Amino acid sequence: MKALVYGGPGKKDWTEVPDPQLLEPTDAIVRIDTTTICGTDLHILKGDVPAVQSGRILGHEGVGTVTEAGSAVTGLAAGDRVIISCIKSCGQCPNCKSGLYSHCLGSEGASGIGWVFGHLIDGTQAEYVRVPYAANSLYKLPEGVSDEQAVMLSDILPTGFEIGVQYGRVKPGDTVAVIGAGPVGLAVVATAGLYGAAAVVAVDLDENRLERAREFGATHTVASSAPDWKDQVLAVTDGAGVDVAVEAVGIPETFQMAVDLVRPGGNVANVGVHGRPVELHLEDLWIRNINISMGLVNANTTPMLLRLVEQQKIAAEMFATHHFTLDNILEAYDTFGRAAETKALKVVIT
Ligand code: NAD
Ligand code: ZN
Repeated sequence: MKALVYGGPGKKDWTEVPDPQLLEPTDAIVRIDTTTICGTDLHILKGDVPAVQSGRILGHEGVGTVTEAGSAVTGLAAGDRVIISCIKSCGQCPNCKSGLYSHCLGSEGASGIGWVFGHLIDGTQAEYVRVPYAANSLYKLPEGVSDEQAVMLSDILPTGFEIGVQYGRVKPGDTVAVIGAGPVGLAVVATAGLYGAAAVVAVDLDENRLERAREFGATHTVASSAPDWKDQVLAVTDGAGVDVAVEAVGIPETFQMAVDLVRPGGNVANVGVHGRPVELHLEDLWIRNINISMGLVNANTTPMLLRLVEQQKIAAEMFATHHFTLDNILEAYDTFGRAAETKALKVVIT
């Protein structure tokens, strides 16, 4: 088959590799029908994720058709259309049973990123992928949901909802600020209303991203390039500070912006992956009773989010801005990598 293979920092190749095989009775092989590119793939390509070694097939988002299911795979058969969760998990160990799929104790790989496709196991930017613990890592797709909608449920929608909205403990009537209106920040914007947020303020440097945030339902947008950006956000709360501030960029500056925007007793939900240390001013956080949360997505809310997409309560298709075929995946990377010029949000590759 053909696959996108990482060749060390700065290098990737769309090349012929051996077809994946069932290695365990709990595995399935899935033919990739649709995949997409995540900002994390760009980090890996830059060499920012040293755990990912040369030779790895990239990608952790995908929708496909089961071609083979191992003898112990329950509830799935060849021909089923499925969402591939970005996190593979056994569903049986104590961590999985408590919902912490990203720290599955199953036999293969390390806890944490070991459980994300395209990191320590081969990923979804290929014609086929081996899916360990298929019964718990694949979600069957109903007829009415398109591949283009479903692929947003592999990673970005559960990430925004679980790590932004749920960890941020959004409650009815809250004002939520979302710093960074990339695909993940927009997933926060798209799902904050599920817990009754009354106002959602999107903050970004890029005017196009702010426009997209309004389409996704942000009640207010603020350009962080404006000298008075902070006052503009605080004005939405009559100066009190937001109830929840979600960091969806992954740099120390935007983490501090989130801390600065939150009211006393409020919550800072850090979704961004920080490649460098962030300073915590504990004295300031302590005196203002601020809660901070963070974590790797578990993608355990995917079935619930899928129902809402099916009922057209989440417009997952709005994330898709550009379309390519797998053979043109290098061009898709180029378009996605130049998002500021191309206005790409998610590039859909079929
Ligand atoms: P992205 O790079 O596409 O979007 C980031 C956005 O932040 C862009 O719109 C950019 O214009 C904006 N931005 C940059 N600097 C800014 C600043 N100073 N002020 C305001 N806005 C600024 O990224 P994404 O794909 O949306 O992902 C966002 C973050 O979430 C990344 O750090 C990613 O690694 C992380 N992530 C975390 C998890 C998890 O499990 N916690 C899962 C997936 C992604
Ligand atoms: Zn991702």
